[in-house]
Amino acid sequence: MQKIYLDNAATTPLRTEVIDEMVRVLKNDFGNPSSTHSFGRSAKNIVETSRKTIAKHLRCSAQEIIFTSSATESTNWILSQLVTKLGIKRFITSKIEHHATLHTVEHLAKVHNLEVVYVPILNNGNIDISVVSKLLEEPVKTAVCLMHVNNEIGTILDLKKMSELCSINKAYFFCDTVQSVGKTEIDLSQTPIDFIIASAHKFHGPKGIGFVYIKKSILIDPLFYGGEQEKGLRASTEATHQIAGLAKALDLSYLNLDEERAYISELKTQCVNLLKTIFPAVVINGENTFYNILNVSLPISEDKAAMLLFQLDMKGIAVSRGSACQSGSSRPSHVLAEFLSEEAIKHPALRISFSHFNTIEEIKTLIEILNQI
Ligand code: PLP
Repeated sequence: MQKIYLDNAATTPLRTEVIDEMVRVLKNDFGNPSSTHSFGRSAKNIVETSRKTIAKHLRCSAQEIIFTSSATESTNWILSQLVTKLGIKRFITSKIEHHATLHTVEHLAKVHNLEVVYVPILNNGNIDISVVSKLLEEPVKTAVCLMHVNNEIGTILDLKKMSELCSINKAYFFCDTVQSVGKTEIDLSQTPIDFIIASAHKFHGPKGIGFVYIKKSILIDPLFYGGEQEKGLRASTEATHQIAGLAKALDLSYLNLDEERAYISELKTQCVNLLKTIFPAVVINGENTFYNILNVSLPISEDKAAMLLFQLDMKGIAVSRGSACQSGSSRPSHVLAEFLSEEAIKHPALRISFSHFNTIEEIKTLIEILNQI
């Protein structure tokens, strides 16, 4: 049976070059980067060269990149530090953040008795920046935690505007850039953000490795104690092959960005056009959305809707209902629930997310099968 993977916002297939690089490191560079002999030095060199590659693409300094195991780990660490080390008294966030942010904020607010303000979402799925601007005029030590590209609907935060707003008002800005790193240019030398995060498996790299960018001037406490790795901020022997895989994946993503972005954008346009031919009343959720994420509500009856993902899966097609963490759940997506009307949310929503590995033939097959259901 053919298999068609259209769930690239959940995770992405690895590039062959990334696998090759990781295998090469696993075979040849097994040394512990903390060892002073040649095996250790060689492994250390891989870690530091990888850090420099990341810094080059994001236009920051290599010392500002700290490797972690995932975006969820980075989020938990940084949000906790904002409270316990940096002394914030209020979080400004939104109800359409990833649960890594939402649940961490909820937990910290409860334990430390902090204020949390959720910025309203406009009915096009975007953040109302004017509300953040008003809130930041209040004299409360604040961290703004808003994501760059939403993983369910693909709406995009104006990073420059938001970071400047935070900078002027002396608020910390933590931005979940998991869906945008490697998929769009991020120039940290021109954007006053305090923290961004990334996870390699979202840009054709391995799972279990990510990084956090921490602006140079900000001092925080370690996530783990017990070693000098990662400037003493995250002790434990570095996963050299994972780090090399991450850097290779990011490098290739940025080297091929223009070409792959144009290709994927065209796939998305074609998919929308074809969907409209079979469902003239299809609704696209979110406006001005990112080029690889398409979230649509389909005008089909509830009984058909219940079986939709299952039937697509039976035919070898992987798409998602809202976000991957919620598949199997019958609750509406927490993101769609935030800005769709009660009527609109009754229709089944599909998230179709593309990568450069997809083809127009695959999109046509998806449409044919949707048409049969
Ligand atoms: N933030 C966003 C926007 C995501 O899409 C994801 C993954 O689904 C995460 C955070 C969590 O990433 P990780 O799997 O690296 O913990």
